[in-house]
Parts: sequence; C-alpha cells; structure tokens
Amino acid sequence: MTANKKMLFLPGDGIGPEVMDQVKRVMDGMAKSRAVNFDIIDGLVGGACYDAHGCAVTDETMTDAMNVDAVMLGAVGGPKWDDVARQHRPEAGLLRLRKDMDLYANLRPAIVFDALIDASTLKADVISGLDILILRELTAGVYFGEPRGIETLADGTRRGLDTQVYTEAEIERIARLAFELAGKRNGRVTSSEKANVMESGVFWREVVTNVHKDYADIELNHMYADNCAMQLVRNPKQFDVIVTDNLFGDILSDCAAMLTGSLGMLPSASLGEADESGRRRAMYEPVHGSAPDIAGEDKANPLATILSYAMCLKYSFDMTEDAAMLETAVEDVLGQGLRTPDIMSDGMTAVSTTQMGEAVVTELDKLAG
Ligand code: NAD
Repeated sequence: MTANKKMLFLPGDGIGPEVMDQVKRVMDGMAKSRAVNFDIIDGLVGGACYDAHGCAVTDETMTDAMNVDAVMLGAVGGPKWDDVARQHRPEAGLLRLRKDMDLYANLRPAIVFDALIDASTLKADVISGLDILILRELTAGVYFGEPRGIETLADGTRRGLDTQVYTEAEIERIARLAFELAGKRNGRVTSSEKANVMESGVFWREVVTNVHKDYADIELNHMYADNCAMQLVRNPKQFDVIVTDNLFGDILSDCAAMLTGSLGMLPSASLGEADESGRRRAMYEPVHGSAPDIAGEDKANPLATILSYAMCLKYSFDMTEDAAMLETAVEDVLGQGLRTPDIMSDGMTAVSTTQMGEAVVTELDKLAG
C-alpha cells in the first residue's frame, strides 16, 4: 500500500527505546494485517548519541531527517547527561531537529477516551467525548525574538528582556494550516492572542482574519489567551482547533493536555511547510519525556507514542483509515481494562509496556479482520 516511504526512527533515551519498540511492533502488525510498509532508518539522538558520538545529533542523522517522509522520536534526556556542556545536552538534539527541519507548527490533540474519564481532575460531563486540537506556532515569537538578554543600564540598574515579534508570513502560514486542519475536523477555529494589550496581538488578529477570507466554510472566532485558558477548564468542548503563538501555545497546550489527565497518553506532531508536491517535513513524538525514574522496567505507557504514530499515518501519509483503526485499537484495549501503572485504577488489569503493545496489535488484527 505504501511503497518507497521512508521514516527515520530516533528512540533517544530513558523510556524512549521501550515505547518506540512498541511502535515497531504495531508497524509489524499493520504490515501483515493492512499491508502498510515503510523503509525505516534507525538513528541516535540525545544522550544516546552523545555517548556514541560526543554530540546530541550527528550531521548524518540530520541529513536523514531532512530527506525522509517522517521522523518518529521517543524522548531525550536524563540525569546521566546533566553535566554535559549545554551545546551537547540531549535537548540540543531535539532543538536542532525542530530548527533545521523548520517545524513551525506543533499539533497537540487533547482527546479524552471514555475508559480514562476518571483519570482527569475535571468532572466527567465537562470532558466526556472531548476531542480538540491545539495548534501552536513553534519557531518564532518571544522565545526567539531579538533583542533579548539581561543588561545593565547606564544608571547601574539591571533589566531582563525578551521580544515578542511575528512577521506577517509567520502568522499567515500557521493560520492557513489551522483552517486546513479544521476543514478535516469540525470546521471551527479559535485564534488566541492578547490583542487587548499587545501590538503583536492586534497584528496576529488582523492577519488571521485576512487569511480566513480564503476559508469561507470554516468558522473563526477570536479569544484573548487568558480567557481561552479559563474556557479550556470551564467548557473545553466549545473548541475544535485553537491556533495560537509560541508562548500562549506553550501554556494552553499544557492546560489542554491535563484535561485528559495522563502524560502517558498524549501524542504530538510538528510539521514544516509543504513543498509543491504537498510533502511536509514532519516529526512525531509523545509529549512526555524520558521518564528516567521508570526507564528499563517495562512499565512505561507506550500509548502516547503509538498515538503519535497514528498522527504520522494521518498527517504525513494521508492514511486516515489506518490511523483511525489504530486509534480505535487503543480505545478498545483501554475499554478491555488494560492499564500500565500510570493510568491504573481499581478493578483494572495491570500490564507492562510490552503487553500493552501486544494488546494493541491483537486488537488491530481483530479490527482488520
Ligand atoms: P517526564 O515526562 O520524563 O516524566 C514525568 C513523570 O511522568 C515521571 O514520573 C514519569 O515516570 C512519568 N511518565 C512520563 N512518561 C510516562 C509514560 N509514557 N508512562 C508512564 N509514566 C510516564 O518529565 P521529567 O521527569 O520532567 O523529565 C525527565 C527527562 O526527560 C529530563 O531529562 C527532561 O529534560 C526530559 N524531557 C524530554 C522531553 C522530550 O524528549 N520531548 C520532554 C520532557 C522532558
């Protein structure tokens, strides 16, 4: 079904290799049941790469990342590399991948599975059936704007500063993607900024409104970011796609993530610009880190990474049916009461990382049936 599609696998550190092994298990299962095949290149990133090559990612791996159809990443980091020089720290590998691949759009879905409704701290009726997508601009804004720094003024006092800056093109491309993604979902976009107090917010709102003229079938509303944070907790189901800048997206996506109650369940995708053929550079990874406290114990929840692979099928390969089937398989194993320790509750069946991966494959076989 999928010939000559190339993927780069970067398991990274800690639980990264354990959860990525389960993605490979799922891929093997889908190769048999759905004839879904990819050529996989294996690579190193983070501490694992530092140990082997003295840097967090090699130029060769970067070349692979730039040339494959999609990158799947586990997680990087851990106490072992705490004393390594900053430019070689595990996170530097991740940042280089995001920067060199120009992954300007970070997609974070927040989906509440019925079986896990009790894992959230919010009331069941507020979150039941929740399925929203936060789209965060990832390569511009206040985290990158110049000037920045801590400086001493002529009178000897000090100040720290960062600059929130967005060009029209930067806002336009993330807005366009938001409208396109909403077109494949429920057709609604909420754009979030602080136009009441920030000039860059006024500009953001103006550009998003202009781009919207090309998407008449999509509903657009604007919401101040502080209100958006409040509404996410009060009534999250009012949203479909929320598009926002780097800073507000950082905060709002974490807020939305916790509606689902569990770090081990949260997938993400980071996308670059599409070329003439519609191909985008893309990297898929779970939201969680390398969880050194449970690494090597076969205890990690692999579902965030498996769901990241489902996003990869959807966004890089347009295989929506296979992606939906994988999501259903995950939902079904949860429905059967299987739980890794992080999502365990009374009356459920405890399983290891490996057993959870195997259960997803068994369920996929049944669905493909
Ligand atoms: P973390 O996400 O690794 O862990 C936080 C807590 O959640 C831990 O108790 C951990 O056991 C648990 N947890 C996380 N993922 C889990 C899973 N799949 N299944 C079960 N439990 C899970 O965050 P942290 O402890 O702040 O950071 C640990 C290391 O990971 C640090 O070195 C940090 O820099 C790195 N990190 C990497 C990424 C990334 O690679 N994208 C993201 C965040 C943190």
